[in-house]
Amino acid sequence: MSSTCQDRIMRAPAHHVKATLAFLCKDSEVKEAALAHLDALAKMDKAAAEAPGNKRKAAGELAVCVQCETPFYKDENHPGACSYHSGEMEVDDDNDFWADHDENIHGTIDSDWARKEYPEGFTWSCCEKNADGAPGCTTGRHEADPQKAWKDGSEDEEA
Ligand SMILES: [Zn+2]
Ligand SMILES: [Zn+2]
Repeated sequence: MSSTCQDRIMRAPAHHVKATLAFLCKDSEVKEAALAHLDALAKMDKAAAEAPGNKRKAAGELAVCVQCETPFYKDENHPGACSYHSGEMEVDDDNDFWADHDENIHGTIDSDWARKEYPEGFTWSCCEKNADGAPGCTTGRHEADPQKAWKDGSEDEEA
């Protein structure tokens, strides 16, 4: 389903995409994610434009990696460019972090919200590292298509 959505977005006229995005931004979480992506893309375009002799880059097709959430140029996607965690963020029960957390007051721990808000209370299932900023344990190519994410790590070298 998400692949169809991606395909449709890629094929849709820019003004349709803009209108759709503006509509979706009524949801505050979507809005935050959209703004973060826009900022990241703008930063990357700016860096590319300012880099000497890099005019070609600014014209390259930019995508956002579904694995590491970093923007990248599709024509510069090489093995090792992406580092990410292939596992899930699991609640760290041994962590004192949650000792004073009352789910009835503070919110459900095992939720997307808590994963975003309190990554330090989670560990990655792939490498057991604390989820608060642990560098990716798997390297590979950036992947813009959620359908293909996580699946083509085998051909790439480990970090
Ligand atoms: Zn990991
Ligand atoms: Zn990536």
